[in-house]
Amino acid sequence: MKNTKYTALVIGFAITILTVGVTTYVVNSVAYAKTQLFQPSILSSATPRVALQIGHWKNNELPDELDSLRGSSLGSHGGGVTEPEAMLVIAEKTAELLEPYDVEIELLPATIPPNYTADAFVALHADGSENRAAHGFSVSRSGYSLTPASQELSGVINAEYQAATGLVRSGRITRAMRYYYGFNWLKYEHSIHPQTPAAILETAFLTNAADQDFLINQADIVAEGVANSIITFLELDLE
Ligand SMILES: [Zn+2]
Repeated sequence: MKNTKYTALVIGFAITILTVGVTTYVVNSVAYAKTQLFQPSILSSATPRVALQIGHWKNNELPDELDSLRGSSLGSHGGGVTEPEAMLVIAEKTAELLEPYDVEIELLPATIPPNYTADAFVALHADGSENRAAHGFSVSRSGYSLTPASQELSGVINAEYQAATGLVRSGRITRAMRYYYGFNWLKYEHSIHPQTPAAILETAFLTNAADQDFLINQADIVAEGVANSIITFLELDLE
């Protein structure tokens, strides 16, 4: 009787030790796997990297996984320019304004390098509507983001872009913005890394007369709004 009790105690003790051991192993393995999956490689580099994506630019070069966007998504147009033409000017001017700062700028076409990492990713677009009265800008964070920094980035753009341009918020934040293909790392290889802070900015409406004039003829101010957003978000210092 005494022996049986003793055996039961030993078995109970062994089961407890085994359970604790296995649980610790599983928890640690999952934690390790997560750090491997969600560890951006470049975020530790000294010079921050910013990607400005020019919406719809070189759309015909999109990879096969995004072939549905090649022809159908050429963007809006107005005032004699297409959306990618207008956004290329804005992106280049923004890069110029950021030149004196300690930051690396990369201009990206519609095609994003696979699993792309950056300290900030901003997709530049111009809105379009059949309603010619629709005007203003809008910003959305990535709906797929695994970092709260995407929310912060879109908040900073909302404030800084409005302060620089004086444009009103259009209030039009579509699903296509929030779940933008470039943010969709679950579905597409050619998308940003889940930890890359990301937002999409509809700079103004190319289909509205006043907005169109502003985008084309006040491109310096539009670029200032984008550059100020990046300077504030990354707390950039002059070189
Ligand atoms: Zn667009």
